[in-house]
Amino acid sequence: MDILHCDLDAFYASVEQRDQPALRGKPVIVGGRPGSRGVVSTCSYEARKYGIYSAMPANQAYRLCPQAIFLPPDIPKYIKASQQVFAILHRYSPVIEPLSIDEAFLDVSGCHSLFGSSTQIAQLIKQDVWEETGLLISVGIAANKFLAKLATNLGKPNGLLELGEEQVREILPLLPVNEIWGIGSKTAQRLKQAGIATASDLLLYPRFKLEAILGSNTDFYIQLCRGQDSRPVLSRSEQKSIGNEITFPQDLDDQKEIEHLLLELSCQVAYRVRHASLIAHTVTIKMRTPDFQTLTRSQTLQQGVDADLTIYKIALNLYHKSGLAGECLRLLGLNCSKLNDRTIEQPALFVDENDTLDQIIDDMKSKFGIDTIKRGSLLNRINRKI
Ligand SMILES: [Mg+2]
Repeated sequence: MDILHCDLDAFYASVEQRDQPALRGKPVIVGGRPGSRGVVSTCSYEARKYGIYSAMPANQAYRLCPQAIFLPPDIPKYIKASQQVFAILHRYSPVIEPLSIDEAFLDVSGCHSLFGSSTQIAQLIKQDVWEETGLLISVGIAANKFLAKLATNLGKPNGLLELGEEQVREILPLLPVNEIWGIGSKTAQRLKQAGIATASDLLLYPRFKLEAILGSNTDFYIQLCRGQDSRPVLSRSEQKSIGNEITFPQDLDDQKEIEHLLLELSCQVAYRVRHASLIAHTVTIKMRTPDFQTLTRSQTLQQGVDADLTIYKIALNLYHKSGLAGECLRLLGLNCSKLNDRTIEQPALFVDENDTLDQIIDDMKSKFGIDTIKRGSLLNRINRKI
């Protein structure tokens, strides 16, 4: 049981309640304002009692709880709190994989002689975080990442739960499919339509039929439903670069179409950079011509970047200056490298007005799956800004 999952409780709302005692014990909603098209980014546990949850439209939240206190996100303040918490986590293990601004995995397998059992380490972390930041953090302990995250969710708020083999055997079969890591609301709906409501339903379902719903991830989810997850905890320093590329089914020379694909790649890659709590100092595009010549163009920046639009603008500029704009291509790629720890260095984007939006969109992506936000809305947003 060497994997810890740590997750701050109602992070943004808790920071506001910590700093403004008048907000304590009250329903606090951080995110969009009612009357706007914004969504709830985080809400306090008092607000959750009214059925409010992250990513809910602010207007709906207002209807459920008109007396709630709506606050705009104060991202720099949350970054500061996050840095303090990550500094505490680093005391207890060098192997830390951040999942978001308030969430991380720790592999503590090499740390027992220094700090004691996994439960003792979890207690020390909870105590330090509370004493030094005034925030509550939930910790889940298990044999792998999937089960540790599940333990945190089951223990929240202010949780400390270890899921041993026996508990896993009890809890896992009845786990609703929408609580399985990575299964978004759409996939969960399709599973339910097929009569699959729980992990044990999923395991009993014929594999070939399951594949029609879960695609190439079928085996991964089957493993999770068995409580197996072989993914190691990867610390940031092990990630050298994050990128993606597309090979076209036919050579493509439509410049607008290529620019559109560059935008898509930028959004995908930027999301992964942010999700790993990293910022990138180098953006590279890769282009391959029909005669298999491969050309890369890079820009290195003094200040790190991680916002969709910032990375897109850099990539677009590189494309236009490459001499290949409007030429026929068979492959297009985008890569972010010279990655730095976001908890050590603030990205340039915190002065970028798009950043709060990225943060809210990311919250939705991580809660509901990466496809929740349609490309169209991203495109509209970009058309408005550029
Ligand atoms: Mg959290």
